[in-house]
Amino acid sequence: MQPTLADIYAAARVIRGVADATPLVPSPYMTRQSGSEFLLKLENMQPIGAFKLRGAYNAVAGVQDAKGVTCCSTGNHGRGVAFAARERGMRAVICMSELVPQAKVDGIKALGAEVAIKGRSQDDALAESHRLVAEEGLVEISPFDDPLVIAGQGTIGLEILQSRPDVTTLLVPLSGGGLAAGVARAAKSINPGIRVVGITMDRGAAMYESIKAGYPVEVPEVASLADSLGGGIGMENKLSFPMCRDLLDEIVLVTEAEIYHAMQVLYYEDRIVAEGACVVGLAAVLNGKVTLDGPTATIVTGRNLDMPTFTRIMTGQDVQLGDVTVKGQTYAA
Ligand SMILES: *Cc1c(COP(=O)(O)O)cnc(C)c1O
Repeated sequence: MQPTLADIYAAARVIRGVADATPLVPSPYMTRQSGSEFLLKLENMQPIGAFKLRGAYNAVAGVQDAKGVTCCSTGNHGRGVAFAARERGMRAVICMSELVPQAKVDGIKALGAEVAIKGRSQDDALAESHRLVAEEGLVEISPFDDPLVIAGQGTIGLEILQSRPDVTTLLVPLSGGGLAAGVARAAKSINPGIRVVGITMDRGAAMYESIKAGYPVEVPEVASLADSLGGGIGMENKLSFPMCRDLLDEIVLVTEAEIYHAMQVLYYEDRIVAEGACVVGLAAVLNGKVTLDGPTATIVTGRNLDMPTFTRIMTGQDVQLGDVTVKGQTYAA
């Protein structure tokens, strides 16, 4: 039961007035650099600071007669579920790993949800979430492998094509693949010729490795400037894996140094404060890893970053990520 275009239209009705209608704005700098009109879909303007509210709200709205909801999240899905549960008067317990930045933990608590921190990987957090389902009767909402979540994220594709049916390429940040699956399903149902490219970092690229292998595989989880793109796709993946495999035209990988520079570009050229996960599309284009052939849109997926790290990047300082140092770069256009 992969979500269809009809499911995505249904999701658009559910989330209307709560999580829809973000701006689609031009990036003059990226347009000059790439030679193609380059558009930014500003999901950083969502009430929770990230697109995940779309899928989370659509899924939570579909839960009936449960003791509450739970999820396993690197942060933004947790925020989305927390926000949606509060709107609908439900208990929410958000499970996450120790790798998640403190700012994200605080953000979720501020939305009135309970937080359970377990282990050093997304899989450990997932196990806790399963326990809450079995022992406390909560309903688990997957961050990416749920038809209502994927349909909710797909509304971004609808909105982009509704305002710009002439877009030829969509550059979509890729982790668990709920966003890419939904956006690609919406976009390709409307315009089968559109190209949808998934982009992620070159360390711990779970969906990329899984598609290459032909089945979901585990990858070592490492810290990244694009921390929202970390984590596995789940060994039991039912929806986002086959959808990404079948719908994405290609998957492109970018380095931490490329992400670092692209974060500076988005800030200094477009004056947007956004997470590392948002700029992978810019990074791919700026480093010649994707060539464009017409109006292009990428999704600025969220703004929930660690401010001290952001400040270091904007001032050209080194950033330590576990045992890896991302060298400082002085910004030059
Ligand atoms: C979750 C997330 C992504 C990736 O979405 P998936 O559906 O997991 O592929 C990208 N950017 C941000 C900011 C996110 O929170």
